[in-house]
Amino acid sequence: MNIVFLGPPGAGKGTHAQQLMKYMNIPQISTGDMFRRAIREQTPTGMDAKRYMDKGELVPDEVVVAMVKERLAEPDCQNGYILDGFPRTVAQAEALEGIATIDVALNIDVPDEIIINRLSGRRVCAACGGTYHVSMLEGDKCPACNGELYQRDDDKPETIRTRLAVYQEKTAPLISYYREKGLLSTAVCVGTIEENYQKVLAALKTKD
Ligand code: ADP
Ligand code: ZN
Repeated sequence: MNIVFLGPPGAGKGTHAQQLMKYMNIPQISTGDMFRRAIREQTPTGMDAKRYMDKGELVPDEVVVAMVKERLAEPDCQNGYILDGFPRTVAQAEALEGIATIDVALNIDVPDEIIINRLSGRRVCAACGGTYHVSMLEGDKCPACNGELYQRDDDKPETIRTRLAVYQEKTAPLISYYREKGLLSTAVCVGTIEENYQKVLAALKTKD
């Protein structure tokens, strides 16, 4: 099954994509993670992307589309995948149609107040990529692998506001884009991670 995860930054796309990846045994393809890795490795794509990411803006469509196209051609994608953070613009969604057939666009619906609280308290493990909220952490190490935790540069308050505005303007239109194609399924996620994950699983079985 080829799945697209839609939803604002901080909606839990990454968390549920990781759960679903294990359950369905298909890869999670996070364009944000791919860019962060490229930045760490100082590749040309990484250097290019960093200028936009640090400001909370989107990386240009051509750069993202080329990267995703290459990734989807790899052998582990042949039985399905979860696209997490892509497409993020209508132009990206149109480009994706030339590369892949999407079975479902899963919209993770979360109110703004919850989003802001989550993003500002989010910490990420440098070793395993796991994400946590400060309110759940006891020490300053990853509970899963004891790796170093850090706060993403774009999780600072000013950048969070820009990212939410960019989401409303550029990405939210994808909800009607996929609804019109009959591919949209919505999971309203206002509970615990486990409750929300159950909503996601249920939403995968039925379209809106
Ligand atoms: P979040 O969903 O929490 O905002 P991501 O890790 O998905 O975080 O993305 C972080 C940043 O990476 C975005 O703000 C943007 O600059 C860049 N990015 C990731 N995916 C895309 C994409 N599909 N198109 C353009 N920019 C992207
Ligand atoms: Zn870890």
